[in-house]
Amino acid sequence: GTMINQRMFELGDEPSAIRELFAYGLARKAEIGADNVFDFSLGNPSVPAPPSIKEAILDILEQPAEQVHGYTPAQGAIGVRKAIAESLNRRFGTAYAAENLYMTVGAAASISISINALANPEDEFIVVAPYFPEYKVWIENAGCVCIEVPARVTDFQLNIEAIEDAITPRTKGIIINSPNNPTGAVYPECDLVELSNALRRKQDEYGHAIYLISDEPYREIAYGETKVPFVPELFENTLVCYSYSKSLSLPGERIGYVLVPPTMEDSKRVYAAVCGAGRALGFVCAPVLFQSVIERCVDEPCNIDAYRKNRDLLYNGLTKLGYECVAPQGAFYLWMRALEPDAQAFSEEAKKHELLIVPSNSFGVEGWVRIGYCVDYSVIERSLPAFANLMKHYQV
Ligand code: PLP
Repeated sequence: GTMINQRMFELGDEPSAIRELFAYGLARKAEIGADNVFDFSLGNPSVPAPPSIKEAILDILEQPAEQVHGYTPAQGAIGVRKAIAESLNRRFGTAYAAENLYMTVGAAASISISINALANPEDEFIVVAPYFPEYKVWIENAGCVCIEVPARVTDFQLNIEAIEDAITPRTKGIIINSPNNPTGAVYPECDLVELSNALRRKQDEYGHAIYLISDEPYREIAYGETKVPFVPELFENTLVCYSYSKSLSLPGERIGYVLVPPTMEDSKRVYAAVCGAGRALGFVCAPVLFQSVIERCVDEPCNIDAYRKNRDLLYNGLTKLGYECVAPQGAFYLWMRALEPDAQAFSEEAKKHELLIVPSNSFGVEGWVRIGYCVDYSVIERSLPAFANLMKHYQV
């Protein structure tokens, strides 16, 4: 056969449960009608991007084409980076500047860049299971080891003792994601303070920095009284990986950033390494039209009303039917216990009721499913009888 990279071949060839479920849903909708399939498989925002985005695009397009479409510096235009820094400073009382920000093609690139900027081969990164599956791909692609530490069952909060126990002299960092995909958990400040203390104890013990990579595409999506703490203010060696995919409903436009706070140890060197990783990975000059859009729309609020309504209907409906669910505090996913130990078998059974829900195996744990409720309200309304029938199937 052709001499290609075997690992890359396997990554590209490997079926993804989420994508397969989505493809199945499209085929099934064509077969029995879109209204009869309840597709909860994806994390594609159902709320349209705010009108100010379109207005900004149209306005930007009035400028000379070479300006609209030309290269920016590798780390992004100074204007958008300054606008983001000032927005963060207003919101969190920080003192950031353009030099602390690196524009990326979304959180995916932000995390991959951060890992590569920090890691040497064989370093370890801790992830909290269940976790966004690409973390492992990016960690291993940097030649590093992905160490899975289970979250607490059944609230899926951080198990800080277990995290501290998993830290070794080779630990380079930990990736956290709050509000969380897939569990909907939001980590409270008290736990993040405790995590920071644990990381500092280990830094002192081993005599080197341990980094916290805070993956925050859902930062703006939190319900009720839930506060999403600003992690760099709690732990100095934090890199923030942000994305506008969810907050402004722009997932296909690929725009986000890495924040390297000036308060971090050796911040300038770490920022240079972020630039180096962007260069090595080919992630230079994020889409320039959307750099300009973000510069103008940086303070546009995220509209979470529809997600909140969906969450309430789904959580209350499923709980009433007898399902065990983690009450979602943020993001747009509901984490529900499968009605049999094998989550894949449960997801297959759900399919027979036209319910497309992602088995927890995709996220590194057994026995649960993820229900993405970034869908039309009516999909949830119409799906509840199907969930009732699914429950009945397991009761006989
Ligand atoms: N991290 C988490 C937890 C996500 O859920 C996603 C997307 O769903 C990403 C990262 C990647 O986001 P982006 O579209 O910004 O690359």
